[in-house]
Amino acid sequence: MENKAYQVLLYYKYIVIEEPELFAQTHLAACKDIGLLGRIIVSTEGINGTVSGTVEQAQAYMDLMMDDERFTDMMFKIDDVEGHAFKKMHVRARNEVVHLGLAEDDINPNEITGQYLSPTEFYEKMQQDDTIVIDARNDYEFDLGHFRGAVRPEIKNFRDLPTWMRENKEQFEGKKILTYCTGGIRCEKFSGWLVKEGYEDVGQLHGGIATYGKDPEVQGQLWDGQMYVFDERIAVPINHVEHIIVGKDHFTGEPCERYVNCSNPECNDKILCSEENEHLYMRSCTDECRTHPRNRYTVEHGLTVEQFQDRLEELEHLRQNALA
Ligand SMILES: [Zn+2]
Repeated sequence: MENKAYQVLLYYKYIVIEEPELFAQTHLAACKDIGLLGRIIVSTEGINGTVSGTVEQAQAYMDLMMDDERFTDMMFKIDDVEGHAFKKMHVRARNEVVHLGLAEDDINPNEITGQYLSPTEFYEKMQQDDTIVIDARNDYEFDLGHFRGAVRPEIKNFRDLPTWMRENKEQFEGKKILTYCTGGIRCEKFSGWLVKEGYEDVGQLHGGIATYGKDPEVQGQLWDGQMYVFDERIAVPINHVEHIIVGKDHFTGEPCERYVNCSNPECNDKILCSEENEHLYMRSCTDECRTHPRNRYTVEHGLTVEQFQDRLEELEHLRQNALA
């Protein structure tokens, strides 16, 4: 049996791309030609992609990119996997290569950005005194795994990060600041924003957590949990020396690294939970979501109104027993 004959490529580059719509069209045709699946975003500020294919297809794509003088220095993060990690192939033109919504706070990383740190440099620096590590990702990414001791900004969207940073300024003033994200693309802007904001010692993890986890020297040390990825794998191991689970089951608080989406389509929040609890709680984060008229769980499992009511009562009993 041939295992791991596929690869996932993760990459980005901030560079001017004229006519992103046109680029997206031709690029999509080229990707389909190769047989890749995945998601690529292009904009006038650059390209951001993650694709999967056989080892040969992945190589064909990297060769194609290297032939374009704009992308000859592209840094590809390569994961060996057992099959495709996507169902479709999309190339889309957008305003931003990664949705940060910084608006008037927007940064061109080619003009201003934090100091690039290799995995070893990052590993050493994060253990120094007066260093604060700030996670530049979403809350649900943090909750599955993060660097030990990292700050989790209390925000729902990246665009709220500047405001949150300003409100919590006293925590960070005079400190050395390190930032990190999945592949490095978000930190390019966030660390640039920090420099622009007046912070003097700002470092960013070059190549992101994805690169850190593959570094033979640090071997992912000081990373707890797993890394959230935006493909079918969802969770990827990073620390190859020890595995400490930091994810907690939404319903019971037990250690958990399994994500599902809330079955209320208007919520769709990511919920960490065991398979058992997914069914017990009908894959809904709250009572409100559980009893929402558009909840998909009841339809998916063909529950009658009576069965649904019985399940709700069962849950209510459980809760009362827990309180008793
Ligand atoms: Zn919900």
